[in-house]
Amino acid sequence: MSFYKAEYIWIDGTKPTAKLRSKSKVIPTGEKPPVWAFDGSSTNQATGENSDCVLNPVFICPDPIRKDGHKLVLCEVLLTDMSPHPSNTRAACAAVSEKYADFDTWFGIEQEYTYFDGARPLGWPLNGFPAPQGGYYCGVGSDEVFGRPIVEDHLDACMFAGIGIAGINAEVMPAQWEFQIGPLSALDTSDQLWVARWLLYRIGENHHVSATLDPKPVHGDWNGAGAHTNFSTRQMRESYEPCVAAAEALGKRADIHIANYGHRIEERLTGEHETLSYNEYRYGVSDRGASVRIPWQVHRDQKGYIEDRRPNANCDPYTVTRLILETVCGAASQG
Ligand code: ADP
Ligand code: MN
Ligand code: MN
Ligand code: MN
Repeated sequence: MSFYKAEYIWIDGTKPTAKLRSKSKVIPTGEKPPVWAFDGSSTNQATGENSDCVLNPVFICPDPIRKDGHKLVLCEVLLTDMSPHPSNTRAACAAVSEKYADFDTWFGIEQEYTYFDGARPLGWPLNGFPAPQGGYYCGVGSDEVFGRPIVEDHLDACMFAGIGIAGINAEVMPAQWEFQIGPLSALDTSDQLWVARWLLYRIGENHHVSATLDPKPVHGDWNGAGAHTNFSTRQMRESYEPCVAAAEALGKRADIHIANYGHRIEERLTGEHETLSYNEYRYGVSDRGASVRIPWQVHRDQKGYIEDRRPNANCDPYTVTRLILETVCGAASQG
């Protein structure tokens, strides 16, 4: 009899920002990964007296670390009565996705992150700082770019796993990078982004480097890390007026979005470093100082998608995409 290894991955109950957890199960070849369980008292998801939580597989893909037919199994967390655990934000995203299925919404999320070597960003001098930002974005050369072999490993791993990764780039702050997932549905983009995040941490282990989604890893004159969320409905992909209507609708519920776009968002959305202050709202064509940007080619073509620049790198994509669906599709439904 032969077996494969399934790495069960889930999102824990740590507040204010949840962490990823995983453990391995050996499964007979040919059998699907079954429902499993874990000790929720060790993940901020249960008390010791009533500790069992349920792992329900929602996205399964080839394991690019173990290869050879082994699998990664992203799970949602359920209570033992099989209802969603309070920490399970995917269930609400699934319900809203179903409600607005007719809109055929696509999401593309730009995940920024920073590599750390101990307490310092990777490649930064032992004392002091590197040269000020300006030449690092999409840079080349070992004096400007830190961590490329790790980034390449991560890209290869995502492609091997069949994750919908769209691209990568070096970011404005040295040791900061970005990858993009999508365009896919809210649930597919979010599931695959969580698996891509797990791979980011896991591949960092092999290089003895840690990745962080900290939204403001270095204070001062250094860019923070975001998760720009691009999205479109079928109507937006066909004409321009719905793109503007979506940007208008987002402005009407700006407070709810900001409150749910990631912990410490006010440290990143300062009005500096390609952001608008968290307590203001503005949209504009090509405007990287706005809350929401309409890309120039969308304005030229008079159709396409818009970019919500506000979500933090440490946001929960299930919550971000769910809120955008509620706000944009909700407003469009009311006519
Ligand atoms: P930026 O210029 O902001 O850095 P990127 O190229 O990093 O933009 O990311 C743009 C994202 O938008 C990509 O992930 C892409 O898949 C996504 N995208 C493109 N077209 C659409 C669309 N019609 N709907 C939703 N997302 C889209
Ligand atoms: Mn980008
Ligand atoms: Mn970026
Ligand atoms: Mn962007």
